[in-house]
Amino acid sequence: MRKLVFSCCIFFFFATSLGLAASAKPYQGKTLVIVTSHADDFSIFAGGSIATLISQGYTAYLVRVTDDEKDGLIDPPHVAAINDQQVQTAAKTLGIRAIYSLNFKNDELERVSETLIRDRILFYLRKLHADSIFTFDPYARYGEENPDHLTVARAAEDAARNAWNPQYAPLQLQNGVHPQVIQDGYYWTRGPIAVNKVFNTAQTEEIKLAALRQQPNMVRPAGLVDIIHHADQSTGAIYGYPTAEVCHHIWYHGKPANQLPALVVTPSNTVRSQASSDRSQGASR
Ligand SMILES: [Zn+2]
Repeated sequence: MRKLVFSCCIFFFFATSLGLAASAKPYQGKTLVIVTSHADDFSIFAGGSIATLISQGYTAYLVRVTDDEKDGLIDPPHVAAINDQQVQTAAKTLGIRAIYSLNFKNDELERVSETLIRDRILFYLRKLHADSIFTFDPYARYGEENPDHLTVARAAEDAARNAWNPQYAPLQLQNGVHPQVIQDGYYWTRGPIAVNKVFNTAQTEEIKLAALRQQPNMVRPAGLVDIIHHADQSTGAIYGYPTAEVCHHIWYHGKPANQLPALVVTPSNTVRSQASSDRSQGASR
């Protein structure tokens, strides 16, 4: 009997440990592809959220759409090279595994077909077996003056919604690249947003700030990192956290069953079902 009690305790200990591990890493085995117009968007607007999702199990990759050749104070080729070098370090600081650069020229995306941008993004969603994306909110409008943000956001959502469909970019489907179902997307923005997800970034704010300090060529002037930190503190104050970032989270193909709210039987429901049952029994009598 004592042995049985001991065995039960051991089982309970391991079951509890496994349960805690599972809840600490809810996204273990899942892949997040971050799609950013510019090399500083993801780190400024979502660095804390991205580091949080990585700490919760996601393996993250970055698809960088433009070369940022105009975001700096010297000639474009050198600016592009410096920004490329700095984003590599910043992404690594956040825990991002690799960067894929599409190298379109920044602030010239109007010259490029949005469908072409979509297909380039779509290729990496398939190749990397993405489960989720993180990008700019394609529905953001107010206060957004940078057309690259909205163009890339629309292309990224289009890619995420259709990566499963072999009719899209069929020539990609060779050499081990297959259609891929993207389940959900997280959207950051600069202006007002329909917030339905709040990240408590208390544990990742310092990582975000360290990443931003790796990008002095784009995240300038020098005091901008402090301004961003204060903004994160102000957002946190709204939700009762030391710091926070917000986003809009969307499911592309309906919510998975394990994400649906549990069916709760309230007393009023019970009464209603009982009354209905009584009526049906009465009718049958
Ligand atoms: Zn930008």
